[in-house]
Amino acid sequence: MSKTAIVTGGSRGLGRAIALALAEDGYDIVINYAGNAAAAEDTKAAVEAHGVKALTVQGDVSDKAAVEALVQTTVDTFGGVDVLVNNAGIVRDRLMRRMKEEDWDAVLNTNLKGVFLMTQAVSPYMLKARRGAIVNISSIVGEIGNLGQSNYAAAKAGVIGLTKASAKEFAARGVRVNAVAPGFIETDMTAVLSDAVKEQLVAGIPLGHMGAPEDIAEAVRYLVSDRAGFVTGAVLDVNGGMAM
Ligand code: NAP
Repeated sequence: MSKTAIVTGGSRGLGRAIALALAEDGYDIVINYAGNAAAAEDTKAAVEAHGVKALTVQGDVSDKAAVEALVQTTVDTFGGVDVLVNNAGIVRDRLMRRMKEEDWDAVLNTNLKGVFLMTQAVSPYMLKARRGAIVNISSIVGEIGNLGQSNYAAAKAGVIGLTKASAKEFAARGVRVNAVAPGFIETDMTAVLSDAVKEQLVAGIPLGHMGAPEDIAEAVRYLVSDRAGFVTGAVLDVNGGMAM
């Protein structure tokens, strides 16, 4: 039987690695993205190389109509949705004193409201099917905070609360909801950090290096699989020991 996974922000970085890992496990993949169509098409080709089907869908996860269209397109194309990975995320870093209201709103809307809207949109299908797995990508910053990231830390801490609330709501119908909290991973999001900042960060990582997108993809692959059949409401830290 075919199985389908939606990966929000699946075009680049962690989302691309997650899409590829789930494709390897036999999922047809819906690759959602915000604006970078070329990256999404590239990921689609890489997913299809694993012998599964792939679809790219542009859409802003903070826009309810776009989210509903994304889920409807998925169901129309593949007949259902078995896995949702809420991965899309942005940063708008600024010290609290200088943070603009629009920096706060943009990050909370994409990183937290987006997870709520996507979860709400897939829930009727998963609850009716009495199966499904959702993985929300939080962050170490949601657990321990960070300078200049009050918006991001609040959103990612919110994702953990939302994960646990939805895990409790959906458990009776066999739908599991978990979070992964990555530490510092090499993607476009962290490429903007200066070498000096990276060195300082790495000094605080007991394993002595930043993570790779595949490190996060492996955690997601586990959490959506039957091997994690008794795991729900959990937050899996994948951070090289940076916080424990
Ligand atoms: P990235 O390389 O910047 O990629 C972000 C992805 O999200 C892209 O696919 C982008 O689409 C998509 N996206 C952005 N805003 C969107 C929106 N409103 N609607 C739909 N898609 C949207 O980021 P990343 O490093 O892979 O991060 C992925 C997730 O992991 C994020 O939630 C991030 O907060 C979290 N995280 C990352 C790290 C890290 O060290 N990298 C650590 C902890 C947590 P386009 O390609 O179209 O722009």
